[in-house]
Amino acid sequence: MTAPKATNITWHAGELDRAARARAHGHGGATLWLTGLSGSGKSTLARRVERRLLERGVFAYVLDGDNIRHGLCADLGFSPEDRHENIRRVGEVAKLFTDAGAIVLTAFVSPYRADRDAVRALFDRARDGEGALPFVEVHVAADLATCEGRDPKGLYAKARRGELRDFTGIDAPYEAPSAAELTIDTGSEDVDASAARVIAWLEARGHLSS
Ligand code: ADP
Repeated sequence: MTAPKATNITWHAGELDRAARARAHGHGGATLWLTGLSGSGKSTLARRVERRLLERGVFAYVLDGDNIRHGLCADLGFSPEDRHENIRRVGEVAKLFTDAGAIVLTAFVSPYRADRDAVRALFDRARDGEGALPFVEVHVAADLATCEGRDPKGLYAKARRGELRDFTGIDAPYEAPSAAELTIDTGSEDVDASAARVIAWLEARGHLSS
């Protein structure tokens, strides 16, 4: 955890606790952390799950890599240090949304195991005395050949031509999760089937009811 620079700051407990927010929403918060190669289908799956959840009245929200890099993380590039800071900030934002009671879907390559583990540790830490928040690592697994074949943004072609540096899978590493709660193989399953499986997983563990 990054220690605060400021010293004269105090944690302020609110009038409502997490259980009260869960009662109001009809469910508690959780973060589904989607990780996988570019083009593996993280955004596509996250948006489909978000839509299906909204359709049944669940407060769901996607934090998407490219979109966040337009704002909150506009100052960051793709060096290991910047990727680390990108994931740290997104982890903090996801934690706030989760505390607020949302089902958060994050869609970031997040290639380093240590960075993902640091976010998990952030969720496990009970800073406010209310206990851990649910953090669910979802490996959106499609092999490099599949992702490169899709190449929805033409980025693999650019990376192969040497026009794009530090591209995960080509000249930057991807460390696959060793203990993801869920693995979705988008090479062998269509997006609706994957979305249904994610939602069934949440439902079975009581995340969609209060
Ligand atoms: P990422 O967010 O991981 O970079 P995107 O969701 O932007 O990936 O792109 C994945 C591409 O793969 C999209 O063009 C999508 O339509 C396609 N695709 C094909 N099959 C699937 C699937 N089963 N799940 C998700 N995306 C799929």
